[in-house]
Amino acid sequence: MAVYAAHLTRTLQGTPSVFQITAQEALGATVKPALRKLVEYLASVYPKNKWSERWYDELYLLIDCCLQYHYLKHYAASFSECFYGLMRVPLTSSNEFSTGHRLPVPLEKGSLALLVLLPYFRDKVEKIVNQWREDNEDGRLGKSKSDKARKAAVHLYSIAHLVSEAAKLIILARYLTGSSPCPSPPLLLLGLTLTNAPPPEPEENTWSDLARNLFKGNIGSAMITFPMVWGAMAGAVQWGAFFVQFLRWWETRPGLTMDSLPSPPPPIREEKSVRYTNKCPVCLQSWKVPTVLPVSGYIFCYSCIARHLRANQTCPVTMLPATERSLVRLYIDT
Ligand SMILES: [Zn+2]
Repeated sequence: MAVYAAHLTRTLQGTPSVFQITAQEALGATVKPALRKLVEYLASVYPKNKWSERWYDELYLLIDCCLQYHYLKHYAASFSECFYGLMRVPLTSSNEFSTGHRLPVPLEKGSLALLVLLPYFRDKVEKIVNQWREDNEDGRLGKSKSDKARKAAVHLYSIAHLVSEAAKLIILARYLTGSSPCPSPPLLLLGLTLTNAPPPEPEENTWSDLARNLFKGNIGSAMITFPMVWGAMAGAVQWGAFFVQFLRWWETRPGLTMDSLPSPPPPIREEKSVRYTNKCPVCLQSWKVPTVLPVSGYIFCYSCIARHLRANQTCPVTMLPATERSLVRLYIDT
């Protein structure tokens, strides 16, 4: 009962911040690309498992379904909502606490469908529409009926996308100003809202209990402490997803990369270089097997410069230090 009371006070007081709402959405959007990277990596390591790449969307649908179902059942929240300490509660107070911590079954099923199936079908439709859009831009769509329908579908999809993004923003803005209790369209559709989750109940078993039981060979008692192990694994998965999100942000942040530096001006041409136009600076003949010394940019016969470098380790013209290993053969007509 105390838990329900805590839940009640939290529900009334704890309105999640917009930061929590947007952060959990961003985290949720990270999981799929992160898993795709993992699948691509596994497919490259084990080339026989190409099917996992081909059926990635379906594989992910299955994993996502299990993951979200677990979180909805145990925490009344999606995976990412749980990470930010949020839980789903019905907007109408009549059935709000009838099932305690759990969501009413229809709302749980609805939540699962909107969390898992909606993104799956949206991604599928988006893939097809993007293909048609590319075909249209490349002029591959003609005047036939089916091509006209495809063009219309591309336009319709753009409009629908714009409308849904606008609706998302409006609902979030209304949530921000306090005129709506619901922060996102799927939650509004289900008649749910987000609230801060009550603090977790203190764990009865500690890690030292688990270690002690395992050490004593008391497997039965060790099994009792298993929920704790599962909890720790779930925590590791959540932090892993958060870490991936951090890495993505780190990669995309504007920074000092080689590309962002301005190109330096080209070096000024040395006067003496004119003397060696189209000839080897060592033998002063036209090149035999033209070879460039990258440190200075002069082109020599391979045998002339190789011999010189073996004896002096410097460029014969500029005196810059160089080795035979830095020589580059040029394939030019001489
Ligand atoms: Zn030469």
